[in-house]
Amino acid sequence: MSFLETKPGVPLLESDDLVRHYEVSRGLGKPSAMVKALDGVSFSLEAKKTLAVVGESGCGKSTLARQLTLIEKPSSGALKINGEPVGNLGDKDAKMFRRTVQMIFQNPYGSLNPRKKVGQILGEPVLLNMDHLGRKAREERVREIMAKVGLRPEFYNRYPHMFSGGQRQRISIARALILEPKVIVADEPVSALDVSVQAQVLNLMMDLQEEMNVAYVFISHDLSVVRHIADDVMVMYLGRVAEKGPTEQIFAKPLHPYTRALLASAPKIDPAHRVKAEPLSGELPSPINPPSGCAFHKRCPFANEHCAQVRPELRNFEGREVACHRVEEIA
Ligand code: SF4
Repeated sequence: MSFLETKPGVPLLESDDLVRHYEVSRGLGKPSAMVKALDGVSFSLEAKKTLAVVGESGCGKSTLARQLTLIEKPSSGALKINGEPVGNLGDKDAKMFRRTVQMIFQNPYGSLNPRKKVGQILGEPVLLNMDHLGRKAREERVREIMAKVGLRPEFYNRYPHMFSGGQRQRISIARALILEPKVIVADEPVSALDVSVQAQVLNLMMDLQEEMNVAYVFISHDLSVVRHIADDVMVMYLGRVAEKGPTEQIFAKPLHPYTRALLASAPKIDPAHRVKAEPLSGELPSPINPPSGCAFHKRCPFANEHCAQVRPELRNFEGREVACHRVEEIA
C-alpha cells in the first residue's frame, strides 16, 4: 500500500490548506448560511512526534480531528500520509487508512459500548482487521495491549461501567493502539478526567509513544495540559491558525495576542511562569458571521484600523509562524 511506505524527508501526516464549511438553515424563506468551521489549515507531523492543537471551544479543532480521521470529508484541501493524498480512497485503502490513523475521544464512557466486556471491545478491531488471527492469538493480542496500558488481566471480563474515568480512558487508548497505528488523533483525551488522573494518562501516552513509535495530534482547549507532551503547538482561532511553532518557544514567549491571552488565562502556581498579558475577555465570534480583517480584532488589545480591515496571513517570525500584522511591535 503506497501511503503506508515511509519516505525519507517526507512528513508522516500533512494537512494542506484543509477547509470544512457546513451549510446551515437560517429558517423558512431565508437563504442558508455557511459555517466556516475550518478555513485553510496546514501543518505537517513527523513520525513519533506530538503536535498539540489548542484553542477555545468552537475554534475548529474537533472539526480538524474529524477531517484527519476521515470521519468527514474536507470541503477542500488535501490530506496526505507519507506524501500520498488520501482524498479518494477505495474501500480497501480506506480500511487500511483507519488502521493507520486512529482516534481517542474526549468521553471514554460514551465511546465504549456499555454492553460489551473489555476483552470484546478490544478484540473487535482485531477480528475486523486481522482475520488471519485465530481466537487464541486475538486474545493474546488483547491481553498484551491491556498490560501495556496498565489494565490488570482480570479486567478482561469486566464491563466499562465497572471502571473509573482514568481506567476507561486507558481502555480507549488500548483500543486505539491495538492495530499498531502510525498516528493517533486524541480529541481532548484528558479534559473529562480529574487533574491527578490527567497526569497519569498523559504520562502513559508519552511512554506508549516511545514504545510503539506512534505520532499524536493532541487536541486540547487547555494550553497548560499540552506543555509536557507536545513537540509543537498549533493555536487555532475561528477555524484558522493563529500561531504555530515549537512548544518551548511558544511557552517561553508567546507572540500572537491570542496565544498570550490563552496562556495568561491558564492558572499557574509558579509566578515565574505567569504570562504578562490581558486574559481573554468576550466570547468567540460566530463562525457564520466572522469579523472582518483579523478575526481576533474585537478582543485584541493591540487592534488598529488595519487589523479590522485586512486579514493577516501566517508568516515566519522568530522561528515560528504567526498570523498577526503587529507581531514585530508586540514581540
Ligand atoms: Fe491583534 Fe491586529 Fe494582530 Fe489581529 S492582527 S492579533 S487584531 S494586533
